[in-house]
Amino acid sequence: MEHKLFVYNSLSRKKELFVPLHSPSVGMYVCGPTVYGDPHMGHSRSAITFDLIFRYLQTLGYKVRYVRNITDVGHLENDADEGEDKITKKARIEAIEPMEVVQYYINRYHQFMNMLQILPPSIEPQASGHIIEQITLIEKIIAAGYAYESNGSVYFDVKKYNQDYHYGKLSGRILDDLLSYTRELDGQNEKHNSFDFALWKKATPEHLMKWPSKWSEGFPGWHLECSAMSAKYLGDEFDIHGGGMDLLFPHHECEIAQTVASSGKEAVRYWIHNNMITINGQKMGKSLGNYITLEELFAGNHKALEKAYSPMTVRFFILQAHYRSTLDFSNEALQASEKGLQRLFAAIKALSHIKPSGESGTYVTDLQQKCFTAMNDDFNSPILIAHLFDGVKFINSVKDGYETVGSDDLDLLKQIYSTFVDQVLGLKDESTSESNSQLIDGLINMVLQMRMDAKNRKDFAASDQIRNELVKLGIEVKDRKDGFDWSKK
Ligand code: ZN
Repeated sequence: MEHKLFVYNSLSRKKELFVPLHSPSVGMYVCGPTVYGDPHMGHSRSAITFDLIFRYLQTLGYKVRYVRNITDVGHLENDADEGEDKITKKARIEAIEPMEVVQYYINRYHQFMNMLQILPPSIEPQASGHIIEQITLIEKIIAAGYAYESNGSVYFDVKKYNQDYHYGKLSGRILDDLLSYTRELDGQNEKHNSFDFALWKKATPEHLMKWPSKWSEGFPGWHLECSAMSAKYLGDEFDIHGGGMDLLFPHHECEIAQTVASSGKEAVRYWIHNNMITINGQKMGKSLGNYITLEELFAGNHKALEKAYSPMTVRFFILQAHYRSTLDFSNEALQASEKGLQRLFAAIKALSHIKPSGESGTYVTDLQQKCFTAMNDDFNSPILIAHLFDGVKFINSVKDGYETVGSDDLDLLKQIYSTFVDQVLGLKDESTSESNSQLIDGLINMVLQMRMDAKNRKDFAASDQIRNELVKLGIEVKDRKDGFDWSKK
């Protein structure tokens, strides 16, 4: 099947036909997490959005190199390049190595992304492992005349850059406005202009993560890592750069400026940004008390939650909105998603028992076409899901004997649900894994009861054999006076 994929480009502000630079290879860079706190709901939307895109591009036959970074240095308290590095702060408070903080939260992030069925990226580079590349990039920008050193720090000269190029092309911000809105802040007199941003910051003595450079012992500015690492792994020009909409300014605007200043040309063909999650209409924030981590969400352990929501319910809830739309979290909406998902998997289960009857028609081939058309229109997952539910109605009427389905159609129908539910949307049936583990627990209890019976008959050979076989399977058995306990190793 021929596919024309249209992608909304935040830079041109319109949908464009997706034409990769080196088809069938696609390079995609996504700004990953900052690792100084537990993954929360905001992380899940960005990760699921780009997982959907990653999965769909692969379904279309593209070979995708997906780079998602870990921000572990240079993320200051605010965007004005002042304040304490968040990882340093955490390490200082908890009296541990900064890299222990980093590793702990990377592990946590991976754990929760796994639960959400997020495929791992092809490369997951850490900013702290790419200091040399970042220093080299600063040198290039200085050599090109778009950065200056000041008291051991290096700043990007936004005004100079804007004379030759266009600062603000992605966010639509105009430098003159930035000039009049931002005033000189205390401690910022190192900068020529308040909107200049740091490429290198001289470290204060108490700063823990710092590296030597010709300017000072210090650390790179936050925006720099993505310019340096995307170029390293995807080349000077690549297809997709993604991230949350909150990164559009200043982070991505600054990334464009750095790359253009150093090389004279744009690196990114398609800029893709996902919208944010609000909670009962409010922005999520620690100070508002509506900041929900994924652990709390999956455990139902937050005052805003009526119950626990499973990872697949959360994933499905997020996919039910288009990635560029706002998405409001509420208990009602999540419970509706939970029911919808159950209905979807009940139909898929029914599909495996349906026998072909009658002739094949056009309904199923049309359904397949509609599913692709939805995804080809800027990854429109809510429309895709609507078509899949239309198919659920069809499956249920076949099951109930109101409709017939030919053998070819039945095969295609199974293929559609496996492609779009499993492969593209990345949804798995949690009830199956739950009922499987119930079944396994039941079987182990049954076998151990048989062992008890053998012991009571004084058939110790049989009882020992059962125990040894279970140990081989990783089941530890402890005998009690009146029975047994067991646990999985
Ligand atoms: Zn980034």
